Amino acid sequence: MLTAHVITLFPGAFDSFLAHSLVARAQEFNAISIHVHDLRDFAHDNHRSVDDMPFGGGPGMVLMPGPLFEAVESIKQEADIDRVILMTPQGRLMRQKTVSELSKMRGIVVICGRYEGVDERVREHLVTDELSVGDYVLAGGELPAMVVLEAIARLLPGVVGCSESTFDESHSFAMLEYPQYTRPSKFRGWKVPKALLSGDHQRIERWRARQSLLRTLLRRPDLVAGWWNDQGGRDETQKRLLAALNDD
Ligand code: SAH
Repeated sequence: MLTAHVITLFPGAFDSFLAHSLVARAQEFNAISIHVHDLRDFAHDNHRSVDDMPFGGGPGMVLMPGPLFEAVESIKQEADIDRVILMTPQGRLMRQKTVSELSKMRGIVVICGRYEGVDERVREHLVTDELSVGDYVLAGGELPAMVVLEAIARLLPGVVGCSESTFDESHSFAMLEYPQYTRPSKFRGWKVPKALLSGDHQRIERWRARQSLLRTLLRRPDLVAGWWNDQGGRDETQKRLLAALNDD
């Protein structure tokens, strides 16, 4: 089981996230156990302060190193922690590969920043990974932390019904998923592609592979460029590519 510890100034922000849907199910199945810690519990003064003005001036407040170090140290006393992750727009962009790596850990800590962010010494001496959910700036690390946790939870064994359904989808092989259709086969005059109705599994497989390839080339050529540098996904990607081009 993966144990995830979240450090935040707004523990209440996680209530509905933890109570519903996939993450709740993952916790019920003991695939993951998520613990939310209030950073203010590690403050030392009567006001429970955890932030202060930046040295050198400028707007906003910065989270002080003391409470963050103490929070992580107290978690480490209770649990085996493999990674201490800081959510930050300056971090490495999160990808499916990152998520898949994290899903294999025993314990992780996720630090949610606020205001102008955290004291640089936290980044330098406390965290092992800095992750960003995209090139835009949010007010806090809470939503990014939920993004990371949900992406991890759905990869854990037993959480998503059929293990195939996380294996095949977008980004697993740096390819986008093929278009999906369901009933009715004709809706307002728009028909489902014939191959999908053919019942011929090889034909369906070829159609899907071609669509995946086409879609990735048109929408995310950057992913295609990455294939050949990415040893991890290479064999599987090549096989799919060949299958896609091998029609007729
Ligand atoms: N001044 C900081 C941004 C602070 S935003 C800077 O320029 O780097 C406040 C907090 O929100 C951050 O500490 C971080 O925890 C979180 N956050 C904002 N945008 C994020 C993103 N794209 N990915 C991950 N975390 C983000």
